[in-house]
Order: sequence, then structure tokens, then C-alpha cells
Amino acid sequence: MTSAADRRQQILDGIAAGAKLAQREPADIELIAVSKGRPAQEIEELIGAGQCDFGESRVQEALTKWPELLARYPHVRLHGIGRLQSNKAAEALRLFGVIHSVDRSSLLEALIKEAERLDRSPPLYVQVNIGDEAQKGGCAIAEVGGLVTAVRASPFALAGLMAIPPLGVEPSPYFALLAKLAERHDVTGLSMGMSSDYKAAVMLGATAVRVGTALFED
Ligand SMILES: *Cc1c(COP(=O)(O)O)cnc(C)c1O
Repeated sequence: MTSAADRRQQILDGIAAGAKLAQREPADIELIAVSKGRPAQEIEELIGAGQCDFGESRVQEALTKWPELLARYPHVRLHGIGRLQSNKAAEALRLFGVIHSVDRSSLLEALIKEAERLDRSPPLYVQVNIGDEAQKGGCAIAEVGGLVTAVRASPFALAGLMAIPPLGVEPSPYFALLAKLAERHDVTGLSMGMSSDYKAAVMLGATAVRVGTALFED
């Protein structure tokens, strides 16, 4: 049996190995521990091991665990990585220090409106539907430029582009495509890579990887 701290170290080593291959600095890649479905106790174990960035998919679930954890560990930063409804904009701004899933202008407008009211403006990623899949979150590739421009003109900082490649196929071409889109739009942050493919994502330029299963499960 390995501990959460051991698994975290293995993943950090994997990130460092991928970075080295790609002649990048490991410090330029942020490990986000995706804690959806995990109890506060397991999250605290990882915080104890030095983990500072966490990700949750659903506002509703995050509200059950995170207000207390964030109060107790003010240095921890929670990332919103799931699909976001505009009517949850205020709750999302209160909870999340970074939001990875801005994929339409109506959502951005809802966030702008609440940001003024709450005086909270976390950095935002524009999520791209990189495999052009029906039912998947993310904007169409043709809409990336417009959304990037809209975020740049908003009170929020643009953190970068985020994507989840299609399941069950080799993800690298999608990581490469997201990196190319980022370059085209002069964006530096790339949130891509999960448990099964974070090393490939790092080699292709990820600046944030979102890892759940590999961190929390033996
Ligand atoms: C669940 C989730 C992850 C983590 O997936 P694992 O395969 O468990 O590492 C990453 N990103 C998003 C958007 C997720 O919903």
C-alpha cells in the first residue's frame, strides 16, 4: 500500500521526468489534485504532504467540503474544473481561486456581473472542446479567439486554455492542437493532462495537470 504522500511524490517525479525530456522547468507545471468524490480527511492528508492546488468539478459538492477546508488552510487554492451553469457564477467565485471552464460568453457575462458585486476576480481559463464532441463542455475551436479577447477585456486575468481530449483515443494530438491554439492566440497557460496522460501533456506544454485517480487511489 502506498500513501497519498507517496503517490503525490511519484506524480511530481513523473512531471519532472516529462519536463526534463521536453527541456522545461518542472516548477513551470502545477499539479492540481482533483478531489471530487473524496472526503475531507483524504484531502487533508494531501495538504499535510504539501499539496496546495486542488480541483473540484461540481459547485454543489465543493460547497459541502471546501468552505471549512479553505478557512482552515488559507494557503490552499481551489480550482473549478467542471461545467459551470451561469446561475452558479456567484457560488463559483466565492469558492474557486481559479476557474478552468469558461466556454461561452453568457457564462463570462454572468461571472463579470457577480465579480463586481463580490469583489472577486480569479484567473479564468477558456475551455476548448478540442475533439469537437457533441455534449462535451468547451467552446468550438472557431470561438477560442473571441472568448480569449472577451476575457482579456474583462476584470479577470486570462490563465490560459483548458481541454479534456476525447476518451479512449491517443490524447497527444489533442494536447498538441491545444498548444497550437494557445500559441496562435498568444496565450501561455495550458491546463491539460489527467491521471493516464499527464506525462504526455507535460511533454507537449501543459502548465497545469489535473490528476485525481492516480493521486487518491492505490
Ligand atoms: C475528474 C477530472 C479530472 C481527473 O481525472 P483522473 O482521470 O481521475 O485523473 C481532470 N479534469 C477534469 C475536468 C475532471 O473532471
